[in-house]
Amino acid sequence: MLDDAGLQALREAARLSPDNLPLRRHLAEQLLTKGYLADAEAEFRAALLLAPKDPDISAGLAEAFVRQSAHGAALSALEPFLASPGYPPRMGVLAARALLGEGDFGRAAYRYHEAISRDASVADPELAARLTTPVAPSVPAAPAPSATTPADAPSGAEVERSKVTFADVAGMEAVKEALRVKLLLPLQQPELFAAYGKRAGGGVLMYGPPGAGKTHLARAAAGELGAAFVNVGLSDILDMYVGSSERNLRAMFDLARRNRPCVLFFDEVDALAARRSDMRQAHTRQLVNQFLAELDGVDQDANEGVLVLAATNAPWYIDVAFRRPGRFDQLVFVPPPDASARAAILRLLCRDKPLAEMDFDAVARVTDHFVGADLKGVVDRAVEVKLQQSISAGRPIPMNTHDLLAIAQNTRPTAVREWLATARNYVLHANESGAWDELMPWIKGKR
Ligand code: ADP
Repeated sequence: MLDDAGLQALREAARLSPDNLPLRRHLAEQLLTKGYLADAEAEFRAALLLAPKDPDISAGLAEAFVRQSAHGAALSALEPFLASPGYPPRMGVLAARALLGEGDFGRAAYRYHEAISRDASVADPELAARLTTPVAPSVPAAPAPSATTPADAPSGAEVERSKVTFADVAGMEAVKEALRVKLLLPLQQPELFAAYGKRAGGGVLMYGPPGAGKTHLARAAAGELGAAFVNVGLSDILDMYVGSSERNLRAMFDLARRNRPCVLFFDEVDALAARRSDMRQAHTRQLVNQFLAELDGVDQDANEGVLVLAATNAPWYIDVAFRRPGRFDQLVFVPPPDASARAAILRLLCRDKPLAEMDFDAVARVTDHFVGADLKGVVDRAVEVKLQQSISAGRPIPMNTHDLLAIAQNTRPTAVREWLATARNYVLHANESGAWDELMPWIKGKR
């Protein structure tokens, strides 16, 4: 029972006109502000039924969850929004709180810094302190950072031997060519490069919508080269102990140096290489400085045979210092696949499945704005359906065009439209250097 007369009146009004969205939203927000969390949750849920995609209502619901320590539920409410790069910064901070609640420090730090770099007004000093203060549970305030640092090296990344090559990447001829020239030729034909006084080196920054195949391309580049592959995710680097993230980063470079030739791949690199001017924490600036120093190498040969690739959905957040020669001096746009690339991706994804007649072009035509990851989802689901049917029939039933079409027509592509809209905001009037030339035709709607 609410003991607030104003809220009681609001609730009564909402009961009388249940379809009045502004009213219900106002009631939910008031409940949240006044700390009636379970009631707020119920009201936000009801409002969400009226406006299922409303970001403010979803954020309100997520906040109600976070404040009740229902972290998983909060993340589920936020997830559909977080997938597209331009999500409201308030949601990033809520996600950070939920992730921290679940003990996922690395992602929490990433979400938080990403959010406040776009909108400083959502900063939450209390949360920021929990994300940066060295809090060692069993070690009281220690004199030197090293004493508060767990001794173990980063756990995640390992050295892989990639079995995929460029033959496993459908379409994307321009991207493959750029990687070939930058990474493969200097290693395969060092004499030629030496003759022109050019050294192998410098990294490539791939950018584009999520799921378009950046990780897949990096792995394929390693396979193409016969090089080792080290796939570095944020959780391999970001650590709450002061100085630890820098140490983790160095350990990743050292791992690659010990395994040359090696492709060292950084996913979500915007979190490690963000513009220093946006940062309030000296701590995060140190990580960026460390990253630059590792890319430069202590001496000329330090990174010989180490090919650094990085991927981001948000290249505009990256500090320009990373784009200097010898660092990520090449920017490569990994575009959403066009119809013929989609047909090629589908063909690849289906190549070892039992198939009846299959018109990949027809499926490609109905999957406008689908990226590789979306197409993989369609094929995976069609395979599940076919498997069920085969089990019931007691014999294998091959997949046909209709199976893929049926799933594709009921699937929404993830984030390409939203991504292009966000990209447009960032780059349309900021292309003096020509850095975004490859992207321009897409955001001007000519592709
Ligand atoms: P990103 O790193 O850009 O978010 P991923 O590389 O993780 O995207 O792509 C997701 C999945 O989609 C890959 O594992 C791969 O199976 C599939 N995929 C994407 N692009 C292609 C492509 N051009 N050819 C074949 N498969 C692709």
